[in-house]
Amino acid sequence: MQFRNLPSVDTVLADKDMAAAAKSFDRDWVVDLVREELDAAREQIRQGADSPDADNLARSVLQRIEDTMRAEPRQVINATGVVIHTNLGRAPLSRAAIEASNQAAQGYSDLELDLSTGRRGSRQAQVQSLLLQITGAEAALAVNNNASAMLLGLSALASGKEVVVSRSEAVEIGGGFRVPDVLRQSGSALVDVGTTNRTYVRDYDDAVTENTAAFLKVHASNFRVEGFTASVETTDLVEVGAKKGIPVLHDVGSGSLLLTEKYGMAHEPTPQESIKDGAGLVFFSGDKLLGGPQAGIVVGKKDLVDVLARHPLARAVRIDKLSLASLTATLVHYLKGEAETEIPVWRMISTTEAALKKRAKSWQTGLECPSTVEKSRSAVGGGSLPGETLPSWVLSLDCQETSAEEVMRRLRESSTPVIARIEEDRVLLDPRTVLPEEEGSLLDALRSAVAS
Ligand SMILES: *Cc1c(COP(=O)(O)O)cnc(C)c1O
Repeated sequence: MQFRNLPSVDTVLADKDMAAAAKSFDRDWVVDLVREELDAAREQIRQGADSPDADNLARSVLQRIEDTMRAEPRQVINATGVVIHTNLGRAPLSRAAIEASNQAAQGYSDLELDLSTGRRGSRQAQVQSLLLQITGAEAALAVNNNASAMLLGLSALASGKEVVVSRSEAVEIGGGFRVPDVLRQSGSALVDVGTTNRTYVRDYDDAVTENTAAFLKVHASNFRVEGFTASVETTDLVEVGAKKGIPVLHDVGSGSLLLTEKYGMAHEPTPQESIKDGAGLVFFSGDKLLGGPQAGIVVGKKDLVDVLARHPLARAVRIDKLSLASLTATLVHYLKGEAETEIPVWRMISTTEAALKKRAKSWQTGLECPSTVEKSRSAVGGGSLPGETLPSWVLSLDCQETSAEEVMRRLRESSTPVIARIEEDRVLLDPRTVLPEEEGSLLDALRSAVAS
C-alpha cells in the first residue's frame, strides 16, 4: 500500500532546491542519488515504515550532495585531553609551519633546483642541515612517515639477511604496523632473541651469524613491561655491533626532541641521545612529539643514510613538498629555542594547571546543565609515554535530563564537531587540547548540546 505513495523520480526532482542542485551538479549523478534514496525508502517500507514524501526525499538527497562536497577531513575540536590523538590527525601545526606549506602550495618553488648554480638540487638539503644541527647526526633523510622510513631502511640494508630483535620489541604499534611484518616485507629475516621480559647483550651477541645485517631496537611505545625486566642499552648494543661490523638501527617512535622529564613525565628516548650512543640509524615520526606534519625521519651515519637515499624505494616513499615545507618550519622552532611556545603540542604539554583551571571555569558560564571543574589527567598519546599522564583540570558535565552518550553525540554533530570523553557517566572536556581560537565554536557547541 505504502509503495504506491512513494513519489516518482520526477516529483522529487521538481522540488525547488533539487531543481537548483540538478542544474549546478551533474544531472545524471543527482538522478542516481534520487533513485538510491527511493530504493532505500522501498526497503524501509518492506520493513514496515511509512512512505516518505517528496520533500523528505529531496532533503535526504540534498544532504548527501552536501556531504559529498564537504572538504575532508573535517575540522574537529579535540577536548579529549589526548595531545597526540592518531584518530584526530596527530599534531596540529605551528603558525609558521602552516604558512610555509601554504606558500609551497601557492606557486612554484626551488624544491629540486639549486638557485646558486641553476642546476638540479635536492629537496632534502635544507631539512637535512636542520636535522644535523638539532640531532648531531652525520646525515639525515625525510620521507613519507616513520613506517615507510623503517621499510626503506630495512629493505636497503637487510634484504636477504638477518635482523636481530629482542622478543620484547617485536611489537605492534597499532594501525597495522607490526615490527615482524615490516621486516618480512623488507625481505629480511627476523631473528628474535631473549624473552618477553628480559633480554641481555649476550643474547644479541650469540645470535650473530655471517648473515646478520643489523641489530634493531624498537621503542615499545604504546605499552610498558613492568617488574622483572631487563633490556639492553643502545651503547652496549653499539659496542657489540662495532666489534662485528653490525649497525644498530633504532626506532625511537615519537621522536621527542625535548626532554619530557622537564614536564614531570617519564623520559622519552630522544633521537639526539641515540645518535650520541652511536646508533647507525635512528627512525622517528614527524607528527608525534616533534609536532610537525606527517613525515618519517632517518638520521644517522652517512654511509648508511646514503645507501637508503640511493635505494629505489626512497623515490616511492619520498616526502611531498607541502609536508617538507612545514617540517622545515617546525624544525626551525627547535633551533631558535622557541619550540615550547610556538609548537602546539609542546604549548599544550607545558600549559600550567592554573591556566587550565581558569579556562575550564570560564566554560561553565551560561550552561543549562550542572557542571563542576575538577582535577583530572590528560594523556600525551600517539604511541609515546605509555601510562604517563599530565595533571589537568576539566569541565565535568552532569546533565540529569540527558545521558552522557547523548551529550557526546550532540557535541559530535555540532557544526564544528567537538570530541570529548566520558568518565563515570559524565562528559569531561579538557581545555589542554583545545586551541584558543577554537574556544568560540566550542562554547556554541557546548551550550546547545546541554540545552534541554
Ligand atoms: C608511531 C610509531 C611508528 C609508526 O610511525 P608513523 O609515522 O605513524 O608511520 C613506528 N614505530 C614506533 C615506535 C611508533 O611509535
